[in-house]
Amino acid sequence: MSGALVGVDLGGTLIRAAVATGATTHGPLVRHPTPATGGPEAVLDAVAAAVREATGGETPGGVAIGIPGPLDPATGMVYTAPNLAGWHDVAAGGMLRERVGSDIAVQNDARLAGFAEWTAGAGRGTRHFIFMTASTGIGGGLVIGGELHAGTAGTAGELGHMIADPNGPGCTQGHRGCLEGIASGTGMVHRARLLLEGGATSSLSAVPADGLDARAIEDHANAGDALARQLFDDAGRALGLAIGGLINELSPEVVAIGGGLSQAGDLLFAPLLAAVPDMAFAVPLSRCRIVPAQLGTDAGMVGAIAWAGRCFGPPPTAASPP
Ligand SMILES: [Zn+2]
Repeated sequence: MSGALVGVDLGGTLIRAAVATGATTHGPLVRHPTPATGGPEAVLDAVAAAVREATGGETPGGVAIGIPGPLDPATGMVYTAPNLAGWHDVAAGGMLRERVGSDIAVQNDARLAGFAEWTAGAGRGTRHFIFMTASTGIGGGLVIGGELHAGTAGTAGELGHMIADPNGPGCTQGHRGCLEGIASGTGMVHRARLLLEGGATSSLSAVPADGLDARAIEDHANAGDALARQLFDDAGRALGLAIGGLINELSPEVVAIGGGLSQAGDLLFAPLLAAVPDMAFAVPLSRCRIVPAQLGTDAGMVGAIAWAGRCFGPPPTAASPP
């Protein structure tokens, strides 16, 4: 009998691992701090320890791991991981296979969150589905024709890096005018600082520099501060225009928006939904629902569990004819 399937969510601060108990359910979570400055060997040692703890020392039947960076799921090569020191062209799949003794499926963390939403959340039952996550950065996952779309290099789904405003601020990758520069938490904080330094009047000017984050902007927007509201209006509008373009390109059945910024509710969704029709064609828009994601911070783990099942589980039983 083959061993248990294991899902792992590797974050910049925390490693979470659990054994699959069903297609999208898992046993108790094992949590280990990520030795983020220790380099790939140290991080993958810690991942292997978390996997062993989750299985009680048994060799797993397969492990799926979500990693925060662009990578190639076909080869297990992680091109880079901005939150993990020294991760450049790391053969994470092979290195982890040596450590745990089973097959490894490496996948981008946002792609797995999207796969989770498609399997068990806002995109359930669809064939064409877009997941966009807006938090410190912007990422996503594309399900096209019932398959998680990887593209030639394996990196497809980087929805944060398309032009929102050619004259807009740079993103974390140095692209001028990226969606991420306007509509991510990092981008909104950066814009808030520039506006405050430029003398803008806002209750945010009373917030200590190290307390100025997306949550503070949300709180001040809810309290009626015009600048904080403008930042959310701009972020929501940029996301809505980008989603409108994606609807034109892919004609999905559902677009789900997750990540920490989506918790702001109407502050983000009202300008977002108002902007979509400015870009989307009427017919594909009429066949598409734009909704909040459903799985919250659980999406990464659920996605890893579901992906382990997809990669290493028993083949799905043939559906009985209608
Ligand atoms: Zn960019």
